[in-house]
Amino acid sequence: MTSQRPKKILIVEDEREIAQLIKLYLEKEGYHPCIADTGHEAQKLAASERPDLVVLDLMLPQMDGLEVCKTLRRKPETALLPIIMLTAKNDESDTVVGLELGADDYMTKPFSPKTLVARIKALLRRVDRVADHQPTSLAYGPLQMDLTRHEVTAKGQEVPLTAKEFGLLKHLLRHPGRVLTREVLLNEVWGYDYYGTTRTVDVHVRRLKVKIPFLNETITSIKSLGYKLLDQPQTH
Ligand code: CA
Repeated sequence: MTSQRPKKILIVEDEREIAQLIKLYLEKEGYHPCIADTGHEAQKLAASERPDLVVLDLMLPQMDGLEVCKTLRRKPETALLPIIMLTAKNDESDTVVGLELGADDYMTKPFSPKTLVARIKALLRRVDRVADHQPTSLAYGPLQMDLTRHEVTAKGQEVPLTAKEFGLLKHLLRHPGRVLTREVLLNEVWGYDYYGTTRTVDVHVRRLKVKIPFLNETITSIKSLGYKLLDQPQTH
């Protein structure tokens, strides 16, 4: 068995009792939880504590959970931070928006802390698996990417891509089901010192879709934020 450092979990919840209850359950499981009771505090702690996962309540004073989710996704260092949202039962539309903005999972209040901990464990396992796995090729529906030979094929046919198109596709294929903001894609594919605008990303996504029409159905645009590759490609 490999020994791992305890995972840090940031709990964002203004209701003290709920926050304390979650904290207690997480500590029992060996996690290191910390609590933020406002959205601004959450942003600060996300930067200083570098948590491995965030439990984010939607109902917060001033800056609500959706806004927090959006800001976390915009910053490259928290763009892929796993987020579980806590929502109220009658907040179905908020839940949908939250998932579109890049939350990975959600639980409806009132919830069982045990179930929440189980979800946290499952999500962390999923993230670890992706991080441990450094493949030399990626597959997605009819697409195959050979990362060492820089080759892409769709249904066995080679698709010539520019270096940036290749980089963009690689990043999308590595993070299916996650919202990737234009800023993050720009940083990852073009680099921090690239002097350009986020429109560059839109142009390249459009070109990818022209070259690989299958992506028209599988890359969704998230309004004002960025792009998401569907978790599971539809099979034809
Ligand atoms: Ca709350």
